[in-house]
Amino acid sequence: MVLKLKDLDLHSAHVLVRVDFNVPITSEGEIRDDNRIYAAAPTIQSLIDSGAKVILMSHLGRPKGADLDFTLRPCARRLEKIIGKPVEFVDDCIGEEVEKEIFHMKEGEVLLLENLRFYEAEEHPEKDPSFAKALSDLADFYINDAFGTAHRSHSSTAVITQYFPGKAAAGLLLCKEIEALGSSLLNPKRPFVAIIGGAKVSTKLGVLRALLEKADTLIIGGAMAYTFMRAVNLRTGDSPVEEAMLEEAQKILVRAKEMGKKILFPVDIVISSEFSEKGDTKTIETEEGIPDGFQGMDIGPKTLEEWKPIISQAKTIFWNGPIGVFEFTPFAAGTRALAELVAGCSKAFTVVGGGDSIAALEQTGLQSAISHVSTGGGASLEFIEHGTLPGLEALEKAAKVEE
Ligand code: AMP
Repeated sequence: MVLKLKDLDLHSAHVLVRVDFNVPITSEGEIRDDNRIYAAAPTIQSLIDSGAKVILMSHLGRPKGADLDFTLRPCARRLEKIIGKPVEFVDDCIGEEVEKEIFHMKEGEVLLLENLRFYEAEEHPEKDPSFAKALSDLADFYINDAFGTAHRSHSSTAVITQYFPGKAAAGLLLCKEIEALGSSLLNPKRPFVAIIGGAKVSTKLGVLRALLEKADTLIIGGAMAYTFMRAVNLRTGDSPVEEAMLEEAQKILVRAKEMGKKILFPVDIVISSEFSEKGDTKTIETEEGIPDGFQGMDIGPKTLEEWKPIISQAKTIFWNGPIGVFEFTPFAAGTRALAELVAGCSKAFTVVGGGDSIAALEQTGLQSAISHVSTGGGASLEFIEHGTLPGLEALEKAAKVEE
């Protein structure tokens, strides 16, 4: 059990909100995709409406120390446009200057702090436990609405809640994500089809195992399919194969057999003589294997035909990761067709997570047809794997503690 916004009386209080404004920004300071800022707006608006003094904190990218290439200032300007209200910005996230700004805040005002990762202790709380304490000193209440970072045990996402016993709650976005992923994917309507693509088996091994247990059909595409091909002694040519994962891949195949479940792989593959848009390409049957001098880049048309009825009949669909090198136009067809197929399943509860899958979905313009587009790729995978997240557990602990 976590506390929610409605459980707290936030009027006139200083409320510190962990949001996820980790958005792509160009070197000119242009925000290329503001979905994550939009997604945090309902919580921010609700806090404004309840007369709180709203202090927002986030990370952006992976700066090494205080590097202004990673400033959150452009996010303050964008948030102003979204909520139609001034958003103050302060050049630090702890310290005297920040405290002074906060002291002068009035009810309903919004302040965004500078990038938390300018301090190493954000990602490595053990190096300086005083960082989480210093953040906590800024406010009376703490709200976590950063679903995209809730799978990290960082100072601002997990460690900080110990300083807010009975005063730490989940924001609206975090609640929405957990409800969508929790009720539908942990107790899915069947048939439940999970589609996992992307680059590596190693980064998705845990979720592959978890989904094999939960889903009725598991579809594996993307570069990770080549590791499975090699695991059953098919030729993979120059495709990326994780040698260290071959045994794990075999174990997954054995487990599927034991459970009588189907794992579907591409039955035909578009291959190219080089990893670019300019190589020689052809489509081969997976059973033939990929010849030397070629690598797999996308699924072929037969695969799509085979997957179509299975996906169309599903009642729950979870999709994470592109099934081809969709960044290169000649190899985007499979991922785009998959996006259209999933979006077309109007009777199913459909969940799409992961930046690349969402980008592919946006290219088709069909994202509004998806039941739940998750703002956290990694977080949604970890939630499916473990059924909880460090950021959630920290809120649960704080909810149990009597003041
Ligand atoms: P991930 O972050 O694990 O979801 O991986 C995303 C990356 O996987 C994207 O950059 C895709 O280009 C890449 N990818 C997907 N399919 C393939 C493929 N068939 N061959 C090589 N890379 C792929």
